[in-house]
Amino acid sequence: MELFKKMETTQAEDKIQKAPGGESEHVKCLILGSGPAGYTAAIYAARANLNPVVYEGLQIGGQLTTTTDVENYPGYPDGVTGPKMMEEFKAQAQRFGADCRWGMATSVDFSSHPHKVTIDEKTAVTADSVIIATGATAKYMGLESEKKYMGFGVSACATCDGFFYKGQDVAVVGGGDTAAEEALYLAGLCKKVYLIHRRDELRASKIMQERLTRKENVEILWSHVPKEIVGEKAVEGVILEDVKTRQEKKISVSGFFVAIGHKPNSDIFKDFIDMDDVGYIHTLPDSSKTNVEGVFACGDVMDPVYRQAVTAAGTGCRAAIDAERWMSEQGLLE
Ligand code: FAD
Ligand code: NAP
Repeated sequence: MELFKKMETTQAEDKIQKAPGGESEHVKCLILGSGPAGYTAAIYAARANLNPVVYEGLQIGGQLTTTTDVENYPGYPDGVTGPKMMEEFKAQAQRFGADCRWGMATSVDFSSHPHKVTIDEKTAVTADSVIIATGATAKYMGLESEKKYMGFGVSACATCDGFFYKGQDVAVVGGGDTAAEEALYLAGLCKKVYLIHRRDELRASKIMQERLTRKENVEILWSHVPKEIVGEKAVEGVILEDVKTRQEKKISVSGFFVAIGHKPNSDIFKDFIDMDDVGYIHTLPDSSKTNVEGVFACGDVMDPVYRQAVTAAGTGCRAAIDAERWMSEQGLLE
């Protein structure tokens, strides 16, 4: 792997200045994404006088705006709703001058410095440093009923929502390590966990499979797929189809956890930034630095393991500190 790409550094006077019509401009620190990682990076960058500009993307506030209660973020002893928490993150960033804007990065050119980012396919922005905080998107089955019960029994995060189903029966769909991990976590909280898998063999690692088989309250429903989620106001059960016999049956559960993988929102960076096969951005050990100098990554887009709001915020802090130090070393803050 080429660790750092050599880049031509153009003179400051060559940088694109903001045009009268506002079509293009140069910023010191450009943050892409408005989840916990992006807003935390913005708080730190603003307080370090980097005048951060945040492009918030289509989902202002990030994944947490799709959930109800968040009970595991420190500092909220009574819990808080996801949307409210993200409003507060944003307000805190704006208090220190972060410029939060509607807009989505649609392409990047990190082959020379300053870095070039195009917003909404039309607005060109150049930046001394770029912080990628574009998160990841949980994959869903695509069932109509899945959307209907989102936040009312349907979840893609057991660590986040499992507690609400303590002592109850729940289902997890998927056969990989995420599904195994979610099922194991829920087995410690719930009365019974059904693991629904479309094949008769798990994709999960052997060690996870062994752990699953040791759990008495986990039942694996092999070769089954969910056809529909049913319930009055919230999830009460799932209609399953046996893919071999085509027979249908219903299980009664109050929670339905989808664990069929996540997709990091990193496609537009792939020509420049090193990432794994799934699309998680590689950062240097103990750092938010990517393989391109002046480009940093934080939050779920670089984290296949923890994927929590608090860890995203933590890495957002790191990215802003790393960006400030890098810019200072490059003499870009004089
Ligand atoms: P995200 O929150 O994914 O935000 C990504 C941001 O990037 C968005 O603002 C999006 O608009 C923007 N974006 C994407 N592409 C572009 C682009 N091209 N240009 C500009 N912007 C872009 N974690 C907890 O700790 N506790 C919980 O209770 C909890 N509950 C959850 C419930 C649900 C239903 C889900 C889905 C997740 C939950 N999580 C929870 C996980 C948590 O939401 C994530 O770990 C966290 O939001 C990741 O933060 P992030 O800033 O990295 O990215
Ligand atoms: P994954 O390995 O891609 O597994 C996804 C699972 O969901 C597969 O079993 C797949 O079935 C199933 N699936 C996909 N689409 C489906 C659909 N539409 N309907 C029903 N089932 C569907 O994803 P992952 O489990 O999130 O893991 C991603 C990576 O992270 C892996 O490399 C994994 O090892 C790693 N990871 C590791 C750990 C750990 O080590 N503790 C924890 C989590 C993740 P098929 O098997 O039939 O394709």
